[in-house]
Amino acid sequence: MIRGNDPILLTPGPLTTSLETKQAMLRDWGSWDAAFNQMTGSVCRDLVDIVSGGDQYVCVPLQGSGTFAVEAAIGNLVPRTGRVLVPNNGAYCARIVRICRYLNRAVVDLAIAEDRPATAAAVEAALAADASITHVALVHCETGAGLRNDLEGIAQVCRVRGKGLIVDAMSSYAALPIDVRTTPFEALVGASGKCLEGVPGMGFVIARREALAASAGTAHSLAMDLHDQHVYMERTTQWRFTPPTHVVAALRAAVDQFIAEGGQPARGARYAANCATLIEGMRALGFRPFLEPAVQAPIIVTFHAPSDPAYEFSSFYARVRARGYILYPGKLTQVETFRVGCIGAIDANEMRNVVAAVGATLQEMGIGSVAPALRAA
Ligand SMILES: *Cc1c(COP(=O)(O)O)cnc(C)c1O
Repeated sequence: MIRGNDPILLTPGPLTTSLETKQAMLRDWGSWDAAFNQMTGSVCRDLVDIVSGGDQYVCVPLQGSGTFAVEAAIGNLVPRTGRVLVPNNGAYCARIVRICRYLNRAVVDLAIAEDRPATAAAVEAALAADASITHVALVHCETGAGLRNDLEGIAQVCRVRGKGLIVDAMSSYAALPIDVRTTPFEALVGASGKCLEGVPGMGFVIARREALAASAGTAHSLAMDLHDQHVYMERTTQWRFTPPTHVVAALRAAVDQFIAEGGQPARGARYAANCATLIEGMRALGFRPFLEPAVQAPIIVTFHAPSDPAYEFSSFYARVRARGYILYPGKLTQVETFRVGCIGAIDANEMRNVVAAVGATLQEMGIGSVAPALRAA
């Protein structure tokens, strides 16, 4: 796999893509072109298949980054009189709370520590305490810390209580197992440029067909109207507005490679191996992951920053980048951290190499001890 001289992106999207995926963008497509519209349709069918959605579910693609699709899902599938429970253990959960406020949807913000998972028991208790809640919006993998929430357990609670479950599976879809037959949801939101290893620019909502049909007229925004996008696509095969043609072509190629690799089980296994190799190597340098292994998703790992006064993130970042690897700043409110992604068209060899790059950078910066600072009281 030749990637040229670009640095390897160890970030949660955009991420490093394969040469085949990049090459798929070397063509211009017309939005009326039947071949392009067939490509959109085939991608959407494959995306539904990944969660075994069958005929009950449809995939509605939407131009923009993943957040656009999350906002569209909330704005379409939660009625204006609805009330959304958001188990909140990180930045992407907090973003959903903000979306609900922008859209004037009543929201119950269920605060959970950043290193603790959202559990079925916590959601059950919150639903029991407030019967007016109509929907639960759950971030499956909270990319802020890299934590995995209990989607399976929470889906069962929602099913039993008859609540609509909207899953932000942006950083888990295609990497962690999700099957609607055992984990029912009303809608799931993903994006082109995460674990499918496409390029960024398109989100998608995999919605229960009936729920989407019932949402006609709910959207607050023309551009974000998923029902309208879906009805128009069914009728014409076309996107309503200018499609992200190169993104769709790259995603077609990326999904082909995903299937050839062995689908979700194989992709999940590669990422798990990346994650284990990274953590083992970083531990050998003295770093400590922020999360306990039981809640660590194999997507992105948060490490405590060294307490050594010689450490400073932007200089550390620049020096690791000069060695060919792009890290990600931390996104936690209490402790100083940085993150390293495990996803993209990379394997355990890249993880060994980034550990070597980090080790060399520590020496260069004169950082003797990587012991984390004690948590501020
Ligand atoms: C990446 C991501 C998003 C979407 O972020 P964008 O910057 O809008 O693409 C949403 N939720 C989670 C959990 C993510 O990892």
